[in-house]
Amino acid sequence: MASTTLTLTPALKINGVVPRFGSKFHFYGGIPTDYTNPILSCSSSIKHRNNRLKPVCSAGLNRSSGLSSHTFDVVIIGAGIIGLTIARQFLLGSNLSVAIVDAAAPCAGATGAGQGYIWKVHRDPGTEKWELVMRSHQLWEALAESIHNQGLDPVQTLGWKKTGSMLVGRTANECSALKSRVEQLLEAGLEASFLSHDDLQSEEPALMLGSEGGAAFVPDDYQIDARRTVAFIEKGNRYFAAEGRYAEFYYEQATSLLRSECSGEVVAVQTSKNTLYSKKAIIVAAGCWSGSMLHDLISNSEIELDFPVKPRKGHLLVIENFKSLNLNHGLMELGYVNHKSATLSSSTSDSGSAYDAHTSSVSMTATMDMSGRLVLGSSRQLVGFNTEIDESVITQIWERAGEFFPILKQVSLKELNKSREVRVGLRPYMPDGKPVIDHVPRISNMFVAAGHEGEGLTLALGTAEMIANIVLSNPQKVDPAPYSMNTIIAV
Ligand SMILES: Cc1cc2nc3c(=O)[nH]c(=O)nc-3n(C[C@H](O)[C@H](O)[C@H](O)COP(=O)(O)OP(=O)(O)OC[C@H]3O[C@@H](n4cnc5c(N)ncnc54)[C@H](O)[C@@H]3O)c2cc1C
Repeated sequence: MASTTLTLTPALKINGVVPRFGSKFHFYGGIPTDYTNPILSCSSSIKHRNNRLKPVCSAGLNRSSGLSSHTFDVVIIGAGIIGLTIARQFLLGSNLSVAIVDAAAPCAGATGAGQGYIWKVHRDPGTEKWELVMRSHQLWEALAESIHNQGLDPVQTLGWKKTGSMLVGRTANECSALKSRVEQLLEAGLEASFLSHDDLQSEEPALMLGSEGGAAFVPDDYQIDARRTVAFIEKGNRYFAAEGRYAEFYYEQATSLLRSECSGEVVAVQTSKNTLYSKKAIIVAAGCWSGSMLHDLISNSEIELDFPVKPRKGHLLVIENFKSLNLNHGLMELGYVNHKSATLSSSTSDSGSAYDAHTSSVSMTATMDMSGRLVLGSSRQLVGFNTEIDESVITQIWERAGEFFPILKQVSLKELNKSREVRVGLRPYMPDGKPVIDHVPRISNMFVAAGHEGEGLTLALGTAEMIANIVLSNPQKVDPAPYSMNTIIAV
């Protein structure tokens, strides 16, 4: 097949540098003895087709380049929570073979820093995203239930904790906003209540909001542990390697895409070690790196594409064995909602040169994970692809938490030096606050699922279902129109 190569500018940059990774290519053979059957662990709405496959995965050596070539139905670029759950969806819901490529490994991107709350308390019923939020929640609950039904513990496998969530305010104005929010959540059919200062004394004794304070409470909300969940999903995907339907190409950056001169379709993903041909779909799920990848792909065609995803840096402070504070629920301050949706100032650039108060914020989020670690967040900064720890941000996170939990003021951050971990990740920020889940116009076999900012863990399962339904031309559970590429592309 005649093809041309489009070279990508290095998509993965850490501190402006392209990391050099060794190559790890795994065709996993054999099924781990402690393996959880992914067929059982999929949600009830996903049907596993037990068809035997015709051989779909072939390998060969590209003589001119010395690179190996392999053929799959679906090639996914990016093995964060979005790429991995998309792979899972195809493996469980179709008979297609899947390859997943990552410049590093699954938790190297935003996913490894995720706090893990899958909450509805800060969501607005009736907005464009509501349907996808609710569908994703439904799928997460179904997954946890199926794990439980297999005799496994969702706490151990996913870090699943059904603590309920609270959105808290300290002033009369904030409480009036929280009460309206509770009304809206009730009207949308959720269980929700407003807790006054007095109610909170028994529900969350360490929380001090003052006499005017209160909280919107959703008792059914839950959290996961992002790293455990990723490990579980990976393990389930690897089950399909034995039948030649799944392979991971980690520590292999996608460097270019091969395009057919005749059809214009993208036929393969070129990595540093392999050429991965795709028979059905190539899906870009590379989080905040997806923009440069798509830009370079499209640059030689008649389509103008500016996929405006930007890295929005976030810090989390994780404290081991912290005895001074116990949390019964997951908490978030009301200000988080505004900080999250704050739009870019027109002067802000990726280099971070226009980084200012408008584009930097710290709002209190507090959870306790399944191992009893206190997890405090979170910050939002537009400082390009920089992932260095900024101690001043950690101090701000600690001090902000102290305003809600005064007991923390009795402990200095220095004392915690040995028991703390800082996680930094780059959220894939979209100016309109929505991910894109769609095919790339005029390139029928190329798709994108990226731009989930601070809610990629929450929306992962619904996103995976949606993109798989688009590729397979299956009916949708959720209207995909709000996530269309057409909203951002100029043709
Ligand atoms: C501090 C913090 C707290 C958060 N808390 C929550 C939360 O509580 N709940 C929630 O729902 N969400 C949360 N999020 C958001 C969530 O983590 C992200 O939305 C989600 O992880 C995005 O997943 P992704 O797969 O799109 O991107 P990523 O996880 O960033 O994955 C992208 C992958 O693409 C790979 N890649 C890049 N370039 C290339 C290339 N050229 N070739 C091959 N691979 C490439 C990278 O190595 C990376 O592994 C949080 C984020 C942060 C930073």
